Amino acid sequence: MDEKIVILSFGGNLGDVPRTFLNALKGLEQAGFRIRKISSALRNPAVGCEPGAPDFWNWAVRGEWDGTPEELLMVTQALEVAAGRPHEHPHWHSRTLDIDIIFCNGETRNTPELTIPHPLWRTRNFVLIPLREIAPEILC
Ligand code: AMP
Repeated sequence: MDEKIVILSFGGNLGDVPRTFLNALKGLEQAGFRIRKISSALRNPAVGCEPGAPDFWNWAVRGEWDGTPEELLMVTQALEVAAGRPHEHPHWHSRTLDIDIIFCNGETRNTPELTIPHPLWRTRNFVLIPLREIAPEILC
């Protein structure tokens, strides 16, 4: 795999999710993340969330990042909060914006605060399907 590849997975199911996604892309660029590819949007049922939860929208974004993975996590978490998602939040619950770091320049981390590659990426179709579009070499 290209050591310099950075992949982010975006999801959300509350509010105007495409607009929130576009705002987050602007924030990423302002923080120095260079966007290279954006997947098509994928609509998915909110499996495991509270009853009646709206469908999720998911995207994957490929880009370049010169900082550390921890610095990227600080940026993505600030964007989640700016999108109206409380920093402390339950898992498996509706959200305006969720950004997961799937890969970051070939680095690995194994703490609860940051695990990369993201431990669930191979099991989530909402990650795999966008990845096939923007980074097929990862799936070979
Ligand atoms: P979630 O509710 O699924 O968005 O999980 C958020 C928590 O996962 C945060 O406390 C993050 O610090 C932590 N986390 C661990 N690994 C990652 C990762 N690769 N990308 C984003 N958040 C992560």
